[in-house]
Amino acid sequence: MSTEAQIAFRDELIAHGLLHATDVDGLYAQSGVFEDIIMRFNALVTRSGTPDGPEVLRFPPGMARSTLERSGYLRSFPQLAGTIHAFAGGDREHAALIAELDRGGDWTGGQKMTGIAFAPASCYPSYPIIAKRGPLPADGALLDVQSWCFRHEPSLDPARLQLFRQREHVRIGTPQQVLEFRERWLKRGRAIMESMGVPLDIDVANDPFFGRAGRMLAANQREQALKFELLVPITSTEKPTACCSFNYHQDHLGHAFGLHTADGAVAHTACVGFGLERIALALLRHHGFDPKVWPEAVRRALWG
Ligand code: AMP
Ligand code: ZN
Repeated sequence: MSTEAQIAFRDELIAHGLLHATDVDGLYAQSGVFEDIIMRFNALVTRSGTPDGPEVLRFPPGMARSTLERSGYLRSFPQLAGTIHAFAGGDREHAALIAELDRGGDWTGGQKMTGIAFAPASCYPSYPIIAKRGPLPADGALLDVQSWCFRHEPSLDPARLQLFRQREHVRIGTPQQVLEFRERWLKRGRAIMESMGVPLDIDVANDPFFGRAGRMLAANQREQALKFELLVPITSTEKPTACCSFNYHQDHLGHAFGLHTADGAVAHTACVGFGLERIALALLRHHGFDPKVWPEAVRRALWG
């Protein structure tokens, strides 16, 4: 359910030309100003993470469907996943498609599943790439990744998009290596967002696991503090919005993708994700719709 405050903020963003609505809730074109905020913030994350020497991977919005299947995502979040379908018929099916289209009917019956699924999070496509290289070196793997991500959660809340970008850093290695990484990024993520001059809080969180069985998974995730979120009030102070997350997957993805450490153990993984659109929205909310008149310290941090 979208609140009045969310809808009002969406209307203001559209009125200021920052977002352009489409026929679909949670799907927008973004303006040059909006994109510039994201690019500048992204550069800030680069400056923060580059000293660690991550390997850079940039992904298209689609990934191999086999990656979605192997990841376990469909077990936990079937309601959010998106797969790409395409026409696979001949002349007869094409004629039927056109007839349905002209009739304003359902033309999608002849669509067949392709080998591509949307990435639900930007770290997913990296795991099979690393697994293919064989056992990890002793110091594990450290990645700087970005992708457009799809989640089927249509909403009028401008901070709940169906297609959005996540900038992540990913660590694959021993439990000690990945937990040290997460600690480091918890501090860094806080420092980066504090330099953005927005009110924030970091708290234990859980993912929206599907169904009745999902409630137990969510409770377990919280109990073990596997997920932290950096929250910024955007359209509500009681329910602030998660702008970054800090996730410890234990050996779940290591098992799923066959990731192994140098000594043959199943690798553990962790990732830190910055939701780029949400961060841009948090900045617009707190500093106003015109970045040219944002506070000097924030402008310096982003534009130098
Ligand atoms: P998650 O994997 O759910 O922890 O997501 C990582 C980050 O992506 C979140 O902290 C958000 O900043 C961002 N994010 C997640 N879902 C959405 C969405 N529907 N719209 C926009 N940003 C999102
Ligand atoms: Zn991730």
